[in-house]
Amino acid sequence: MLQLYNSLTRKNEPFEPINPPHVSLYTCGPTVYDYPHIGHGRKYVMDDILKRTLTAFGYEVKHVQNITDVGHLVSDADEGEDKLEKGAKREKKTVWQVAKYYEDEFNKDMKKLNILPPDYQPRATEHIQEQINIIHKLFEKGYAYDTPEAVYFDVTKFNKYSELFGQSLEDKQIASREKVKTGEHKKHSADFALWFKRVGRFSDHTMHWESPWGDGFPGWHIECSAMSMKYLGETIDIHTGGIDHLSIHHPNEIAQSEGATGKQFVRFWMHYNFLTVDRTKMSKSLGNFYRIQDVEQKGFDPLDLRYFYLTAHYRTQQNFTWVALESAKSARNKLMNIINQLRSGGIYDAKNKSAMNRATTNFKRTILSPEKLQKTKSFQEKFSQAIENDLNTPEALAVVWGAVKSNIPSEDKYDLLMSFDEILGLRLSDSRQQTAEKTVIPHEIQSLLDQRAQLRKEKKFNEADQIRKQIEDKGYIIEDMSTGQKVRAIKSLDSLMP
Ligand code: AMP
Ligand code: ZN
Repeated sequence: MLQLYNSLTRKNEPFEPINPPHVSLYTCGPTVYDYPHIGHGRKYVMDDILKRTLTAFGYEVKHVQNITDVGHLVSDADEGEDKLEKGAKREKKTVWQVAKYYEDEFNKDMKKLNILPPDYQPRATEHIQEQINIIHKLFEKGYAYDTPEAVYFDVTKFNKYSELFGQSLEDKQIASREKVKTGEHKKHSADFALWFKRVGRFSDHTMHWESPWGDGFPGWHIECSAMSMKYLGETIDIHTGGIDHLSIHHPNEIAQSEGATGKQFVRFWMHYNFLTVDRTKMSKSLGNFYRIQDVEQKGFDPLDLRYFYLTAHYRTQQNFTWVALESAKSARNKLMNIINQLRSGGIYDAKNKSAMNRATTNFKRTILSPEKLQKTKSFQEKFSQAIENDLNTPEALAVVWGAVKSNIPSEDKYDLLMSFDEILGLRLSDSRQQTAEKTVIPHEIQSLLDQRAQLRKEKKFNEADQIRKQIEDKGYIIEDMSTGQKVRAIKSLDSLMP
């Protein structure tokens, strides 16, 4: 049974959806004011692992991921300017152009990481009325109050406000007092804006809409409540986000949603830890970030990055270094090479020299002995156990390598790896992903090849065959093409392991 760590209860819990086989999944999406960095990549790859896992477990997942194109201020609290306005100023474009451009860039990068797209990707700016409707309800129920600069949510009225971050409101207030410069009329420093008015620091705000509380724009948090409820209903199964959302964004989402409906908003809250550089969170503001493009420019495939992400459990911090990415690349390349050889029968047949020339023929299904069948099953079980255990991807990768090194027949090994890849998403079945590893031919082999070519020219086929045998004994396969001899190394399985 799938166990997920629920931030709300602070423990692993068996996952059961409200309405099986359907699972409603909301994953907090990007603020589209700049390029995504590889820290974002980790979060969205982990969402993808979660979604693929749910699907592999037979659930029908309905996945919503918002696009934040208004209202997210430079701090996650109500401080600073709107990130979209900031992006527009920086690029001398309109906010709408900036939002569209970075939304497209985000989706392109996610595709490169082989992340399955959400079923719905709603934009905050296209759901203003839904956000206004929730604010109406919050007024009716006494949770909202109006001030000259904004409409705020009164956190002291919502008893469960601290439940998610597990800290008393007083402690939170003390911790944030210095950091968060709050609106003038806020009653409590943790109160948060539901609607900003186009006055004071926001008097020139470009994106604005009419509302019963004056011209303005929504606060950031309300969009997730509105769009989650619109597409998935008032109570959903799973909601995810980065660990930074544990203290502000998600408690605020809960307060607004449950305040408005009186129902539980989310059953499982999942939070992914950060990707760091020198143990510091990778972020735009600190300038310590890399984009997917940077990774590609250094000769990596974005799937190397995906493999790298999988080597750490999502609840632990993962420190990014180029050396670590290099070893992920090397492991993925080895895996791809093994799979290509399994596909073509290379490794299997290499052990049986007389069958070497069949290297490119496909598998013939063999009937498995009970012992091998048991072994195959046990890898399947171990893999499932790893994933069932709160998506333990490092352990799942260890099972992958265990299976690769085992003596189960190639065709079953291949099928097993393909089934693992339904969750890992490394595109293992994609032969175009082959890392075109060039065979470096040692001088000794090259000289034998030259001799063989000469003998064949002279029609001395017996002698040429003897040389072929010598070459094969040294671990190389020759294929005679119309263009000449093609040679490749027969790799032993061991030489391909990480
Ligand atoms: P943003 O576009 O800043 O709203 O962030 C989108 C998502 O990416 C949020 O869930 C963040 O928590 C997450 N995120 C941002 N930086 C990192 C990082 N360095 N490592 C992991 N997740 C991150
Ligand atoms: Zn959100």
